[in-house]
Amino acid sequence: MKSYLQLIGSGTFDVPPSIMVHFDNQQNSQRYLFNCGEGTQRFCLQNKLKASKLKNVFLTRVNWNCFGGLPGMLLTMADAGSKEIKLYGGPNLTHAITATRGFILRSTMSVETHEFQEDGMTFKDDNMTIYPIFFDPEESNNNISSSSSQGGVNLPSKRANDSTLDTVDNTSLQYKKEILSLMFNKSHQPHNPKGTKKSKTYEENSALEISDEVQSEKSSSSKNDDSLIQQRRKLFPKRLPKSRPSSASIAYVCVGPKYKGKFDPQAAKALGLKPGRQYADLVNGKAVTAPDGTIVHPNQVLGPSRADVPSTSYIPSICASPEFATYQTDNKDLQPRIIIHMLGDGVLENEKYQIWMKKFGPNTEHVIMNEQYCPQRIIFNSIAESQLKLSKIDENRFRIPYYSNQPEKLLDSIPNIPKTTHLAAPLLTFQMEPSFDIDSSNLPELFDHNNENSRAVKELNKNIEYLKIAAQVQEEVATATPKAMNIPGNNVIVTTLGTGSTLPSKYRNVSSTLLTIPNDGSILLDVGEGTLGALFRHFGPLGKTREGQISIEELFNSLKCIFISHMHADHHLGIVGILSKWNELKKDPSGFIHIVGPPKLWKWLSEFSDVQDFGLSRTRFIDNRDILSLQKQSGSPKKISNSLKSLKESINLKRFETIEVIHCPFAFGISIEHLDGWKIVYSGDTRPCDDLVNVGKNATLLLHEATFENDLLEEALNKKHSTTEEAVKIGERMNAHSILLTHFSQRYPKVPVFTDDHGKVGISFDFMQVNIGELYKLPKYVKALKVLYCENSEEANDSKDDDWIQE
Ligand SMILES: [Zn+2]
Ligand SMILES: [Zn+2]
Repeated sequence: MKSYLQLIGSGTFDVPPSIMVHFDNQQNSQRYLFNCGEGTQRFCLQNKLKASKLKNVFLTRVNWNCFGGLPGMLLTMADAGSKEIKLYGGPNLTHAITATRGFILRSTMSVETHEFQEDGMTFKDDNMTIYPIFFDPEESNNNISSSSSQGGVNLPSKRANDSTLDTVDNTSLQYKKEILSLMFNKSHQPHNPKGTKKSKTYEENSALEISDEVQSEKSSSSKNDDSLIQQRRKLFPKRLPKSRPSSASIAYVCVGPKYKGKFDPQAAKALGLKPGRQYADLVNGKAVTAPDGTIVHPNQVLGPSRADVPSTSYIPSICASPEFATYQTDNKDLQPRIIIHMLGDGVLENEKYQIWMKKFGPNTEHVIMNEQYCPQRIIFNSIAESQLKLSKIDENRFRIPYYSNQPEKLLDSIPNIPKTTHLAAPLLTFQMEPSFDIDSSNLPELFDHNNENSRAVKELNKNIEYLKIAAQVQEEVATATPKAMNIPGNNVIVTTLGTGSTLPSKYRNVSSTLLTIPNDGSILLDVGEGTLGALFRHFGPLGKTREGQISIEELFNSLKCIFISHMHADHHLGIVGILSKWNELKKDPSGFIHIVGPPKLWKWLSEFSDVQDFGLSRTRFIDNRDILSLQKQSGSPKKISNSLKSLKESINLKRFETIEVIHCPFAFGISIEHLDGWKIVYSGDTRPCDDLVNVGKNATLLLHEATFENDLLEEALNKKHSTTEEAVKIGERMNAHSILLTHFSQRYPKVPVFTDDHGKVGISFDFMQVNIGELYKLPKYVKALKVLYCENSEEANDSKDDDWIQE
């Protein structure tokens, strides 16, 4: 048997801290994930970590940082054939997951939640016993509520016996679990008339594109289907019973399997235990209680733990924890092998925390996860390398994502921490069995575009044909007459942050585009998972301004509106992360942000705000249906809400209108017209749409989805998307000045084929930044792109094995 612990996110902008524990043996190979923030799924894909053996996910806190990647991950796992996932965490876990019922549904997998309470419940399977230890921040120790405080009834928790998982007897929790069983319902077989096997790609499997099985399965004949749909219809629209945020943080003590023959009766006797039952329990990996009341855990401690200490206010609680004190002992058997410290800023510098760390024995390895101590290295290497190549065409359009291989603070600057303290790094591995070993051989290559000897730079320099044509394109662009430079809105900046469809891939993240209107404000058009990380990579970290760029603080202070086109997971799962950062960085306390989206969006956000205060009270919601373009108003006076009025005034807009597009129920495009005379139209996901053409007439820029290649028209029809050629045609019919294609299928990073008679079509890439006045340059890039992404390029071949989840 082999078991090891692998670090996933080490706390960079794009992947919050997370850990995977692997057990490889013949009978029961398994993976256990601790925390699943935004980007976790993409990290696994980038590094070919197979997640098919993942059955159990543990969260240290129920907040977006630990939870944000989970909804998308569950959909992907269900579509890849996983049958069952169990989620473990503190209060509100069930609430958080059921709040996504408007858009996260699968009938091929079951999902169960187990909310640990502070009553000694544990997790146990053949591989590990896991003990949760709760700790709370100092100021709110007494007023933390759990999800059980429904309607003033606070039922006492049912104490489960030591190694059994059970849930609190709680009507509200039971109700939410019922909802969860309707969201993920394995016994329900979706109607499948063709009887097709699972297809090989995400698109074909429609991973995130079936938003609403309630809608799509209407025609199904099975009785089973009908009852499920009816139950969903009955229960889903009701708001979840209210809950309140819990600030509890959970540390997990993971104890590995007991090795036979290693039991030390003398040590047990010294602890006051009696031979017989208690000895046997210890041998079998169970904890037993010594006469003095202390809990004795068996040896082979895999590592307390993931101690998630978000801020210094948690320090008193963790230092006073009697559960941790059990492991701060001279008894070697009880000394943990590893402690993973997920630390907020200032915790490591705190003297009390340092003393607490030192109380563990000299055999304990400490691993620090913190943004200041761990460098902001590139985590998604493929996209950074791709960006490096593109920068040879135009380094201002294709900017290399921000990174630093040097930490802000050095671990050496803290003299009082244990000598066995390490910094976290992605994929750093700690082998637990058969013998302990620290393995850094899997660490992804350090991206360093200034190092001529790095693989990425060497490889680029070898591609002489591309470099030649890139230089040629640069020259052509430089000598072209920039007649477009003086058009209205020429200084408005379009940044395509995510340009792929369905789910994050190596080269393209899911949908998001940023419009920056100098002096007036910024607007985000869709925010897929990972958008927050992309913004930090683009604008740089807090307190730093990148050359020729506004700072991330300035960006968030200028952000006035988030538009969500429809409720497919690839378009909105990043919004909570964006809102909570906006809430943190927006200086003006009376400032607010407009959210324009489908009705389900608001419902989800308000239910999730029961779990975490991300500043929802500072938002103003506008329903997409309330601002439909005049053309669709059929003569009745347009309903203009105060929110729309204030939105338009705050950005100096003339019009801000939605268009119902042809995709799924409640799918919308948007047309934004500024008082200066420019107009930007965004299609969202859609089949070619006449209404969009009409509303978008003479647009300065049309940003249109182009999910499928031209020869996949049938698929485009089935899934209600557009082909490249169809997207271009819409722009031509609209008489758009420029057309920018986005939302490409993740199957291949090839350059799509299209006819561009008028030289107005550009292809978007993640992190591409272009002023309206410079859009004329984009079509000229295409010939260089064709060389870069030719059939036998690294990128074209690389993505063929992206089916990371299967083995
Ligand atoms: Zn989409
Ligand atoms: Zn969609």
